Amino acid sequence: MKKRLGVIGGGQLGMMITEAAKNLSEHISEIIVLDPTENCPAAQAGAKQIVGDFKDELAILKLAEQSDIITYEIESGNTDVLSKLKAEIEPSPSTLSIIQDKLSQKTFLSENELPISQFYEITNLDNLREKINELGLPVLLKSRRDAYDGRGNFKITSPDEVEKAYQYFDGKSLMVEKFVNFKMEVSVIAARNTKGDIATYPLVENIHENNILKMTIAPARVSDNVIKDAGKIAKKTMEVLKGAGVFGIEMFIDQDDKILINEIAPRVHNSGHHTLQSCKTSQFEQHLRAILGLELGSTDLVHKTVMCNILGPDGFEGKYKPVQLEKDGVYLKMYRKDVSKPQRKLGHFNVVDQSDSKDVSELLEMADEIKNSISINQLD
Ligand code: ATP
Ligand code: MG
Repeated sequence: MKKRLGVIGGGQLGMMITEAAKNLSEHISEIIVLDPTENCPAAQAGAKQIVGDFKDELAILKLAEQSDIITYEIESGNTDVLSKLKAEIEPSPSTLSIIQDKLSQKTFLSENELPISQFYEITNLDNLREKINELGLPVLLKSRRDAYDGRGNFKITSPDEVEKAYQYFDGKSLMVEKFVNFKMEVSVIAARNTKGDIATYPLVENIHENNILKMTIAPARVSDNVIKDAGKIAKKTMEVLKGAGVFGIEMFIDQDDKILINEIAPRVHNSGHHTLQSCKTSQFEQHLRAILGLELGSTDLVHKTVMCNILGPDGFEGKYKPVQLEKDGVYLKMYRKDVSKPQRKLGHFNVVDQSDSKDVSELLEMADEIKNSISINQLD
């Protein structure tokens, strides 16, 4: 029987889930997204939209009435409401609620003996000072909830920044974490279907700028041992976390090649966008296969690929001219957002080594050239 699929969030991830659903039309009759922005990216890709906030109880109930399975593309759904619903929800609201709060996520990982940087809950300024004494500087002060693109993080490097950092969060619940002097940031996209089968994609390398993902390199340029360790950690993470779907597991590789988990996203992930061209099964199709209880698709990396995000430039907010890009082996995906804002994710492109003839440095050079040739310009 075909299923109606409800998605909380209709941004670019919801859009690419909607596009992937077209290949699974014998299993999915319709996609309905809940998103506050009228004509959101997923709606433009053919999803039906309920306009409403991700936490709005009535809107979530309306979505549930129209859906056989509910999933999400953002972590900030209302878990109190979700856990009361009769509809099938994947991944489960209990998994979502562990992950939603960075403190409970880190506590969960630590209880399951997964490697993470040392952390503490912070309840007041004195308490922060005390924990900094213990951890040593630098540290990252983090908002426990609703953070994305590093917007909920404050790096404290000297004692005179402590008060400013604390006040920056204006009473939000906080945690503090020892800063990891990492060699590299990497991630594993992993999936589990409702039958319990697990599949992981190859380790990729992530380059951030100003806390926002700028580039993903698939595969990561690391030793076989690091690949093995990261794979083990990803598998163990999946075994302890419940729920079906795709998860993005972000990790640091420290100076001694030790792996620490940074955080887990209970959803498709920006560092998995390369799979649209590099792997037989994209992370979006994999997520659908997982929550529908189908066999998981192959996660083999068929082509080396560099993914580059296209971000809104600083100092400009408004409608922008369409971006065009035509080059062999380069795949542009714009997210159909009407308005550019500083550092807003507007699209990405994948530079794919289709002929298996280039090394990563050549792909990186091409990606840089292409990036420099793209500019987001105001629409007259
Ligand atoms: P996103 O939405 O990009 O996943 P987020 O807002 O949830 O981000 P984090 O993933 O916690 O925030 O942090 C964003 C970036 O900040 C990380 O990718 C990493 O570069 C840096 N970062 C976070 N925690 C640490 C740490 N303990 N040590 C060093 N760098 C860190
Ligand atoms: Mg992150």
